[in-house]
Amino acid sequence: MSKVDAIIATARSENRTFLLENEAKTIMQKYKIPVTKFSIAETVEAAIQSAEQIGYPVVLKILSRDVIHKSDVGGVLINIKNADEVRTGYQTIMSNVQKHKPNAKIKGIFVEEFAPKGIEVIIGALKDPQFGPALMFGIGGIFVEVFEDVSFRVAPITKHDAQEMIQEIKGYPILTGIRGQEASDTTALVNILLQVSKIVTDYPVIKELDLNPVFAYPKGAKCVDARIILEEEST
Ligand code: ADP
Ligand code: MG
Repeated sequence: MSKVDAIIATARSENRTFLLENEAKTIMQKYKIPVTKFSIAETVEAAIQSAEQIGYPVVLKILSRDVIHKSDVGGVLINIKNADEVRTGYQTIMSNVQKHKPNAKIKGIFVEEFAPKGIEVIIGALKDPQFGPALMFGIGGIFVEVFEDVSFRVAPITKHDAQEMIQEIKGYPILTGIRGQEASDTTALVNILLQVSKIVTDYPVIKELDLNPVFAYPKGAKCVDARIILEEEST
């Protein structure tokens, strides 16, 4: 069984259609999509150890099958600089989540490499009942939320499709560099789009895939959050 199949099987055995961030990121790694380094900790001490291994600063996130939007419940703390901050951060996240979602089953804390700020883009895939999986691209923040400035293509896509998806959004000049800013590495984004197209084509069981955000840099790009929702199991 491939690693991806094993992850899906585990989710099924636990009656989950939602893959945890570490599971989704492991799938991304299998497809050579760059993601932040991460590990899972079930105790404060283990979290400190992970942080030391990854190197400060780190990011702490709640890891729970019942929390899909982690920051909505106070479940994300970025730029944690030392062991003391891991200790207090761990407690803060636990109490935030308990307050917002008292019944959430908590698996632990996700300790992650802190990625320097880039241009935030969203790369995703969702299934259209008629056309099957479609790829989505947009620039994060208000561009997606307020202006709905996104592009779509039915999977599988070609390199040329991916380039068009990036170029046709209204916010495209943000990626080519405005006001003296350096241009983002759109080739890295094209590669991620192509790999996501492969993933959803290889695994029709994926109902929804969201890389939100991906940080685009002058050289390269990095996915800092990944979410996958599976189809309900057919009986
Ligand atoms: P949510 O489940 O709320 O979408 P995210 O993992 O996307 O949680 O984290 C919320 C925000 O925190 C992100 O949009 C991003 O701006 C920031 N963030 C998350 N992970 C990292 C990271 N590893 N490095 C830097 N910033 C991060
Ligand atoms: Mg996110």
